[in-house]
Amino acid sequence: MSTPRAYPIAMADPSKRWPENTAGDFFVDRSCIDCDQCREIAPATFGDSSGHARVERQPDSPPLLSRALMALVTCPVGAIGTKAKHDLHPVVDRLPEQLDENVFFCGFASENSFGASSYLIVRPEGNVLMDSPRFAARLVRKIEQLGGVRWMFLSHVDDMADHAKFRRHFQCERIIHRHEVHSSIQDIEQQLEGHDPICLSPDLIAIPTPGHTRGHMVLHYKNRFLFTGDHLWWSPERQTLRASPRYCWYSWKQQIESMQKLLDYPFEWVLPGHGYRHHLSTHDMREHLKNCISWMRQSN
Ligand code: SF4
Repeated sequence: MSTPRAYPIAMADPSKRWPENTAGDFFVDRSCIDCDQCREIAPATFGDSSGHARVERQPDSPPLLSRALMALVTCPVGAIGTKAKHDLHPVVDRLPEQLDENVFFCGFASENSFGASSYLIVRPEGNVLMDSPRFAARLVRKIEQLGGVRWMFLSHVDDMADHAKFRRHFQCERIIHRHEVHSSIQDIEQQLEGHDPICLSPDLIAIPTPGHTRGHMVLHYKNRFLFTGDHLWWSPERQTLRASPRYCWYSWKQQIESMQKLLDYPFEWVLPGHGYRHHLSTHDMREHLKNCISWMRQSN
């Protein structure tokens, strides 16, 4: 069993705080990698400032303070700091955070996956960890209490972070597409092939979605949840679903074809690695997906 460290987060440096921070307790320093986690977790506190996050408004109530501290714990590089000392235990105890039914957001993002979000599906047949969070002691303990990890589904090679430590600790079976496998991860247990969707169990379908990378896959769960890695996400600015030609490393043309394939799979939740989560009715999500595909075709 691997031994996780308690809170493996660097401490933000007040001497390196961005001047754009609103004065007060919380600040963001220059180590910020602009991953979006804090803006998604605590939008009332953190905002955007061309290439990095900043404190837009200091948290002024217990619920807002709690969200800001959750962002601090989740920040992959420890770029968020406070002047005052805060007890992080109550916030850490809320992670993984339940989103809906038996689906949880893990928090504890890792710099090795550029701060990507990861998720835990708690199921009687065995839990699934979707992409890899940081291997942090408190998170690992909470995952143990929730039943451990039976499978670790890896959307693509960029969001794998501490996958090997989770494998050693939980003896979970990792699943990835063969086209993502390179020399240092050849020992991954399940390597899927081809472009056709693969039924992993009656409620779980692995859908190959080449585009962002050659072997990218999304995970469809219970006709309600779509874990999309870096293939598709919600854009709060545009209030619709989006993908990005700028962050497409393999083939934009194939990413459009992969997106088209998703019209066959109803979902209410889009749960990405990078980009924002969102929940809508199945009908509305499908309309947004169709709009996204039209937009992608125009920008091809
Ligand atoms: S979570 Fe950390 S690295 Fe990510 S945008 Fe916020 S301050 Fe920057």
